[in-house]
Amino acid sequence: MFPFFHRGRSLIARSFSSLRSDQFNVCVVGSGPAGFYTAEKVFTGMKAAKVDIIDRLPTPFGLVRSGVAPDHPETKIVVNQFSRVAGNERCSFFGNVSLGSHGVSLSELRQLYDVVVLAYGAESDRSLGVPGEDLGGVYSAREFVWWYNGHPDCKAMPIDLKSTDAAVVLGQGNVALDVARILLRPTAELAATDIADHALAALQESTIRKVYLVGRRGPAQAACTAKELREILGIKDLYVHIQESDLVKSQTDEMELENSRIRKRVFELFAKRAASHRSNAIKGQRELHFIFFRKPDRFLPSDSGLHVSGVRLEKTSLKENGESGRQVAVGTGQFDDLKCGMVLKSIGYKSVPVDGLPFDMHQGIVPNIRGRVVNGAPPEHAAVEHGLYVVGWLKRGPTGIIATNLYCAEETVESILEDEKKGLLISDSQKLGRQGLLQILENKGVNYVPFSGWQKIDSEEKLRGQLKGKPRDKITDWEELLRVANA
Ligand SMILES: Cc1cc2nc3c(=O)[nH]c(=O)nc-3n(C[C@H](O)[C@H](O)[C@H](O)COP(=O)(O)OP(=O)(O)OC[C@H]3O[C@@H](n4cnc5c(N)ncnc54)[C@H](O)[C@@H]3O)c2cc1C
Repeated sequence: MFPFFHRGRSLIARSFSSLRSDQFNVCVVGSGPAGFYTAEKVFTGMKAAKVDIIDRLPTPFGLVRSGVAPDHPETKIVVNQFSRVAGNERCSFFGNVSLGSHGVSLSELRQLYDVVVLAYGAESDRSLGVPGEDLGGVYSAREFVWWYNGHPDCKAMPIDLKSTDAAVVLGQGNVALDVARILLRPTAELAATDIADHALAALQESTIRKVYLVGRRGPAQAACTAKELREILGIKDLYVHIQESDLVKSQTDEMELENSRIRKRVFELFAKRAASHRSNAIKGQRELHFIFFRKPDRFLPSDSGLHVSGVRLEKTSLKENGESGRQVAVGTGQFDDLKCGMVLKSIGYKSVPVDGLPFDMHQGIVPNIRGRVVNGAPPEHAAVEHGLYVVGWLKRGPTGIIATNLYCAEETVESILEDEKKGLLISDSQKLGRQGLLQILENKGVNYVPFSGWQKIDSEEKLRGQLKGKPRDKITDWEELLRVANA
């Protein structure tokens, strides 16, 4: 979790000492899609700008490395584009540098840089606030995804796939489908991906045969996309159960489906599958059950009181919400229990604030106007924090695909360019930029990982992967990552 401290090594690169102060110094915090797209757009729009990208991990690319499922390699190709950005002579990467109390503070960065763009994503979870949420065996989908993707913070997570035959996934969005697919897909297929070794080993021994995907609303409102749904429905030898009575549409459902092509295609896939499935699974077959119109009421403890043994679900019905026009799920007071030994909550990621940063605790985002950070609720009470910007999931909330962050970065960089044009960002000769950052890191004994350090990790992972017939064998341990980067 924390940066690696290394005392006594001089980190100041001599080549930086001749930096001209008339250059524009930009710091981007977070090297996920939002951070890299921002750097790219800054390079195009500001010819004098230098961009330093810091990330708390020794590895770049955010959720492209630690979120996107291992069996979606084509989605990860975007890292080639990001690597080209990192290779720009005006760009520097500082991995293993955290914004916050264990690294560099926001006020330090604002003193050093003309512009600070926060792109540090959403690294926490929404909670349900129902009893039993902290029982053993209840995890957030984020933790489970980090675990199978080899994020070094979750390597040691005690994920137990051997004590139960049933897992409940709460949520029916694409992340929920990802985690269900990883639990159900034949491990021989996963073995050829970059899934973390510890996760593959656990999945190979997994006794989980049934996965329940639970949604508050119906198949007309499911939050997944057709591509992901088709993929999970296409898993080899999988028994899929969809209750046909859940597919009966109300007039409002019909209208909702008419208004959304994506939802319509998803609904058609559910309907087609429900019509074609057998009534029972064959013995030993893995099973996927879509449970609609249910919301979690509480998690049920095992006899020891320590572990989850089931979820009590409340049946829901849909009610039109006057304000949004959407249908919302309301409880009916009827309950049923679903037995399981593992629960994955896929109900949304949440950003976390850092000291000195305006933060909207309710929405879990940094208040902003087109990427300009504001103090107070926009638009009436907004006081702009000059030189401070936000982008990506931290700006919009945890929704959207990788490409959404490109448009998001365009908007934020447009705001930066407009502010620069208006003279609101006059480059200050006191702002030391990279030189100052290096000094702070040296003073604090932070052993940062440059992009060349990441390239060493990258080569090592690919080499180890070759020996195992996979694209890469991820290094999942903090100490080892830093050792390889510094070799
Ligand atoms: C499980 C999952 C699967 C997904 N699959 C797909 C998919 O298949 N296709 C698709 O298009 N999109 C997918 N997405 C969406 C996509 O990953 C996001 O839209 C995108 O990554 C958000 O970009 P970001 O830069 O805002 O945040 P992130 O990608 O989360 O990047 C944030 C970066 O900030 C760093 N950071 C965090 N805190 C600090 C700190 N204090 N100091 C310094 N650095 C910090 C992190 O280490 C990270 O590198 C998926 C998302 C998830 C959660």
